[in-house]
Amino acid sequence: MNTRIVTIDSSNINQTDIEEAAEVLRKGGLVAFPTETVYGLGADGLDGNASKKIYEAKGRPSDNPLILHIADLEALKELTADCPENGIKLAKAFWPGPLTLIFNKSSKVPYSTTGGLDTVAIRMPSHPIARELIKRSGLYIAAPSANISGRPSPTRAAHVIEDFNGIIDMIIDGGMVEIGLESTIVDVTSAVPVILRPGYITAGMISEIIGEVEFDKAVLAKVQDLSIKPKAPGMKYKHYAPKGDLTIYEGNSDNVIRAINIITKEKMKSGFKVGIIATDETYALYEEGIVKTIGTRKDESTIARGLFEILREFDSEGADYIFTESFDNNQLGQAIMNRLLKAAGYHIEKV
Ligand code: AMP
Ligand code: MG
Repeated sequence: MNTRIVTIDSSNINQTDIEEAAEVLRKGGLVAFPTETVYGLGADGLDGNASKKIYEAKGRPSDNPLILHIADLEALKELTADCPENGIKLAKAFWPGPLTLIFNKSSKVPYSTTGGLDTVAIRMPSHPIARELIKRSGLYIAAPSANISGRPSPTRAAHVIEDFNGIIDMIIDGGMVEIGLESTIVDVTSAVPVILRPGYITAGMISEIIGEVEFDKAVLAKVQDLSIKPKAPGMKYKHYAPKGDLTIYEGNSDNVIRAINIITKEKMKSGFKVGIIATDETYALYEEGIVKTIGTRKDESTIARGLFEILREFDSEGADYIFTESFDNNQLGQAIMNRLLKAAGYHIEKV
C-alpha cells in the first residue's frame, strides 16, 4: 500500500487535507493523526470492519479495547448506556483534554471496538487537528496509539512512519505532540471512580473535582504481579519496550550515577553498546556510553514529553543495554514511572 503523508499546520488547518483524511475514515480506512497525548491510529469506531484493521495493523491482541474519540458532549448520549454524575463532572472539568472515561456502552458500540466488554472508553481530545478530523468525518474515531503493539508510543509523525509506512492509508504530520504520555483513564461506572492508567491528569486533580478516587491495584504495583489482573486489559501487556535491555536505577542521585557509570563500563568492556537516560541536571556526570538527556527535573512535563522518543532513539542506535535514572512517583512522575516500569519489564536496581 502507498501511504499518503501530509503535513498539516495545527494553527492554520488546511481544510482540503482534513477532508481527504475524513473521507479515508468514512470509507473504512486507517489514518494516523496527532493528539495532544500521542499520535493515534484512527478508524471509524462504530464500523467493526474498520476497527478490525487497527488490530491487524498494530498486531494488537483482540481483547485490548480501543478508545473512542469525540468532539462534543452530545456524543455521550449515543455511545453510553448511562452517564454517572462523576463522569459528567470530570468531562466538564477536563474535556477537551488528556482524560479517558469508561462508561457502560450503548448498543451502538460494537464489541469489536470494546474487546468484548460492556463498557466503552471515551475521550475528547484538545488537539486542533484531532478535533477537526472528528468533526469533519462526522464519526467517532477509534484510535489507539499509532505504534506497532509493544513498541514505544509515537510522539512525532516520524515514529508513525517508522512503524506504519506502507501499511496504513494516511499519516497526518502535525509536529511533535504536547504531552507525550497517553491519557489518564478513569472508570466512572463504580460509585468510587477508579484510575486504570495514570497520565497528565493526576489523582489530585481528579479528586479536586469529584472527591474520592481509587487506583486500580495493578497501577500501584512496583513489581510485576501476574495475580493482579488490571481493569484496563491493555495494561497487562508488555509495553513501550525498547529493543535494548532497560534497567531503572533507584536511590540517591550520587549512588545512581556511580552505579550506572560502573555497569556501563563493564558492559562496554564486554563489547556491548550502552545507552544512558540522563537528565539535564546529571548529563555531564556520566563518563561513557551514549548519554542522552530526557528533560529537566525542574519541569517533569519535559521528561514526560521526551520519554518515548528517547526509547526509540536508543532503538535506532542499536543499544544493547539502556540504564536510566528513576523519577519521583507522585503527580506526573507517577505516569512517567508507570510507563518506564513497563518498558523495563519492572527491572529496578536499588542503589
Ligand atoms: P491506547 O489507546 O493504545 O492508549 O490503549 C487504550 C487503553 O485503554 C488500553 O490500556 C485499554 O485496555 C484501555 N481501555 C479501553 N477501553 C476500555 C474499557 N472499556 N475498560 C477498561 N479499559 C479500557
Ligand atoms: Mg498504546
